[in-house]
Amino acid sequence: MDFDRIKEKLNILADAAKYDVSCSSSGSKRTNTKKGLGDSSGMGICHSYTQDGRCVSLLKILLTNHCIFDCAYCVTRKSNDIKRAAFKVQEVVDLTISFYRRNYIEGLFLSSGIFKSPDHTMERLISVAKKLRLEENFNGYIHLKSIPGASDELMREAGLYADRLSVNIEIPTKSGLKLLAPDKKHEDFMKPMEKVKNEIIQYKAESKLIKSTPKYAPAGQSTQMIVGATGESDRDIMYSSAFFYKNYNMKRVYYSGYVPISTDPRLPAIGTQVPMLRENRLYQTDWLMRFYGFDIRELLNDQNMHLDMEIDPKLSWALRNRHLFPMDVNRIEKQQLLRVPGIGLKSANKIVQARKFRKLNWEHLQKIGISTNRAKYFITCDSREKELRDLSSEHLKQLILKTSHSKFRTDLSPQLSLF
Ligand code: SF4
Repeated sequence: MDFDRIKEKLNILADAAKYDVSCSSSGSKRTNTKKGLGDSSGMGICHSYTQDGRCVSLLKILLTNHCIFDCAYCVTRKSNDIKRAAFKVQEVVDLTISFYRRNYIEGLFLSSGIFKSPDHTMERLISVAKKLRLEENFNGYIHLKSIPGASDELMREAGLYADRLSVNIEIPTKSGLKLLAPDKKHEDFMKPMEKVKNEIIQYKAESKLIKSTPKYAPAGQSTQMIVGATGESDRDIMYSSAFFYKNYNMKRVYYSGYVPISTDPRLPAIGTQVPMLRENRLYQTDWLMRFYGFDIRELLNDQNMHLDMEIDPKLSWALRNRHLFPMDVNRIEKQQLLRVPGIGLKSANKIVQARKFRKLNWEHLQKIGISTNRAKYFITCDSREKELRDLSSEHLKQLILKTSHSKFRTDLSPQLSLF
């Protein structure tokens, strides 16, 4: 093996892969076999994130950064004057195994530029996963990128070797995609997503009848959207996201703040700050939608197209809906508790448990771990103490902001003001 050449390829292709944030490795139950290597079950795979939120726990590389497409937002686009490289299938297999043995990684995240054709690229990605599983008995985590436009048959095969598959929608709306990636069709993304969803359902159903049915993409599928490359509102982004969760059984939608890499006038100029705060607010909204029972239309709608960057989306919703508060923590259902600013999933459960034995007062709530400095404006409890609730929403917001310590408060990106 020419180690210098491999090292050079690794530098180029790992660097090109860093813009993809859809590499969470949770949710897989693949366990080791007697003669196997690696184990992606339970905590066998751990996440490691760089400061800006990028995952680094997997060997995260592109098979190649050659591409026949010219998507304006992508560093790998064919018109970009960059150094190109391509791994051979066996080189990726060898690298994965040797990094795994050295304990550098717990798995592989493999994506690729599209060379020759979507099918040709997908075939090579599958070859890597297949060799790892069948020839190396590798049971570590494998996340494969699904190439838009690849055939149904290849998508079916990919899921037999990968733990997770993902097609990155990248630009949240059809119009944005048309503007920045005119060669691509919206349907090219939807088709593989649909195929993966159907295969997962089918294999799960079969495994109930026939125990030996192989697992198909046991960690499900995910997608990624770039935030801030085009002028989509937060509402547009989150409505797209809700659509994918509902229609394609997505495990996760990832939001990646656009990193300016091009002088193309259609895109934010180089040097524009990455919208990290906006990215964070979108993740919070996603969380509220998936785990707190919020309908996305409650959080974002025609009157509220953008998220408030100063406060989190739940507090923002509560301030717009003061007529629903205060709520009595000793009486309301858990679903209502989850709507109170300062009360999270764990603390809602603790409240439900604790109030079986006594009526809760402020002291109890503080002991449970409720953030009473914001919750106190939205709840009542077993106490005569009255909080200031006759303030306007704007006053209340300022009061809460004064006493909160958000790590993002001084980090408002100028890119946010563009839209
Ligand atoms: S097809 Fe993928 S890799 Fe190629 S330019 Fe578009 S986004 Fe980049």
